[in-house]
Amino acid sequence: MNNPIPYGRQNITEEDIEAVVSTLKSDYLTQGPRIAKFEEAFAAYVDSKYAVAVSNGTAALHLCAMALNVQPGDKVITTPITFAASANCVRYCGGEVVFADIDPESYLLDINKVRELLEASPKGTYQGIIPVDFAGRAVNLEEFRQLAEEYDLWIIEDACHAPGGYFEDAKSQKQLCGNGNFADLAIFSFHPVKHIASGEGGMITTNDKELYEKLLRLRTHGIIKDESKYKNTPEFAIGLDESRIPNPESRSYPNWYMEMQELGYNYRLTDFQAALGNSQLKRADEGLAKRREIAATYLKAFKEKDYIKGQSGVVEGHAYHLYVLEVEDRLGLYNYLRENKIFAQIHYIPCHLMPYYRELGWQEGDLPVAEHYYKYCVSLPMFPTLQEEEQDFVIEKINSFYED
Ligand SMILES: *Cc1c(COP(=O)(O)O)cnc(C)c1O
Repeated sequence: MNNPIPYGRQNITEEDIEAVVSTLKSDYLTQGPRIAKFEEAFAAYVDSKYAVAVSNGTAALHLCAMALNVQPGDKVITTPITFAASANCVRYCGGEVVFADIDPESYLLDINKVRELLEASPKGTYQGIIPVDFAGRAVNLEEFRQLAEEYDLWIIEDACHAPGGYFEDAKSQKQLCGNGNFADLAIFSFHPVKHIASGEGGMITTNDKELYEKLLRLRTHGIIKDESKYKNTPEFAIGLDESRIPNPESRSYPNWYMEMQELGYNYRLTDFQAALGNSQLKRADEGLAKRREIAATYLKAFKEKDYIKGQSGVVEGHAYHLYVLEVEDRLGLYNYLRENKIFAQIHYIPCHLMPYYRELGWQEGDLPVAEHYYKYCVSLPMFPTLQEEEQDFVIEKINSFYED
């Protein structure tokens, strides 16, 4: 096996390239027709009413926190086993991040730990929860919604790992990640290691029309172009000279006019990125099926091995952004795999132990399940173009590390 094997890799086809090139030859580089097309197709894919394309997943999280009006002093609960952006979006708005521990089997935010936190303080102490579909395993948002209702909290689902993933609700209905049935807002990323790549890119999905419209404004500087919502009068728009309006009955705003009514950002996606995203989205189901096959092969290979302390396993609705093993001598295995050009990865260093969050008061011992998980976890190569021989090689090397 001569080619290095990474833990994740994008797959760009001739069709993808053609989609980008034809956009470059069109009239639009940014905010053109392909954005709307991508948003529509993505909303259909995850079964939500609305979708807003943005420049990356982190920008998506930031806009969600803004749209939900996170204020300095607000407290928001999330998991420590995630990419830092899930937590950072709260900090962008001056809020406080409260990490709650994970479940040792699913590796997801433990709802019982969240409930304990909520019960320990007066109602109104916390404003929201950001559960993460870590590794591609769907959080049971029906349960989180019930808890959120009790404590009057909003929910942002960080579904970056799980386009196409789902859980089964109490009535055995499939609930797709990002469908907006339980979370107020959900976010996705189109970074190349994720399921769908657009270079950089992100998407917010929701079923809430008001939040949707707010997100559209915040994505583009807080500017609107809608006469029915303007705050200034038409005479101001023309140039403050009312006497020059020929017929007061037909007062209207000139075409150049727009208003910036709130503080927004430029978090737009370009049209050629949307073209790439859209082209990739067409193969998303195929990729997902492949990921599930790869997971089944890993499970079969490792389920009887005594050096395995835990693993992602085969779980209904899992989207397998990652396949995680928990192993003894993780560092030894990691280095041994690297010597064999297998680039496994660690997901994640617990967020609360990053120097930035330590400075805010977090320390070792605060979240024992997450810290225990971090000691043993390793993410194996997992991407749709992983070849059978490559996966066999990965399995063989892991076995030989522990058994030879
Ligand atoms: C990738 C990722 C993000 C951030 O997405 P970017 O597009 O890289 O900004 C946020 N949360 C999770 C869980 C991610 O995996």
